[in-house]
Amino acid sequence: MAKTPIYKRILLKLSGEALMGEHEYGIDPAVINSIAADVKEINQAGVQVAMVIGGGNIFRGVNLASEGMDRVTADHMGMLATVINALALQDAIKRQELQVRVMSALPIHTVCEDYIRLRAIRHLEKNRVVVFAAGTGNPFFTTDTAASLRGIEISADVVVKGTKVDGVYSSDPVKDPSAKRFEKLGYDQVIEQKLAVMDTTAIVLCRDNNIPIRVFNMTKPGALMRMVMGESEGTLVE
Ligand code: UDP
Repeated sequence: MAKTPIYKRILLKLSGEALMGEHEYGIDPAVINSIAADVKEINQAGVQVAMVIGGGNIFRGVNLASEGMDRVTADHMGMLATVINALALQDAIKRQELQVRVMSALPIHTVCEDYIRLRAIRHLEKNRVVVFAAGTGNPFFTTDTAASLRGIEISADVVVKGTKVDGVYSSDPVKDPSAKRFEKLGYDQVIEQKLAVMDTTAIVLCRDNNIPIRVFNMTKPGALMRMVMGESEGTLVE
């Protein structure tokens, strides 16, 4: 008998840097196509997919502000960068012959839909992929926090964070060969030990609303599918 996914609805968070591939800036079309193919695979297995995409491959508010720019303006630019990424993802997902909608927390009516919670849920029920853009719509927040917030709002079963490493490690596995991967962690452990999962606001939101977080390696072929099928992938925070 075919296996069924352990999650019905997921919120997948990808950082902007996940779209760069080997480039130093911007979007690698091969990477975005492979993400879209992974999304199609789990969608066809019966998983409703909502996504939050970052903007760090284009602009980060804090970086612009450190060069003297007004922080709120810099964060507006960062949020607009996430809209650019969301449109690229929408295009790639559409080419996989899935239905997909970008919903932005900043109104940009001629380009994409506004974020309206019940409308987003309706899209998901109709098996459309939803890409949430512009973070929370407010400066001084991150797209990690937007992922937790939207995950809770749409009653996702899990917030999934796709990274370039196999989960959460005791130290940076690229620099430290003795770094150990955690199978499971508590929210407070992540906060106290300052482990690189998501920022503290994002973790606290998930903790206080009982939504688990799964960190896994998005660059590994088939990893997203294995994760939704309940095969241990990455690190679970709950
Ligand atoms: N941003 C913001 N409010 C939000 C989400 C994002 O102001 O709710 C801005 C902020 O400037 C941030 C940029 O958008 O640096 C890109 O988001 P983020 O750094 O979270 O992207 P990622 O690191 O995931 O690529």
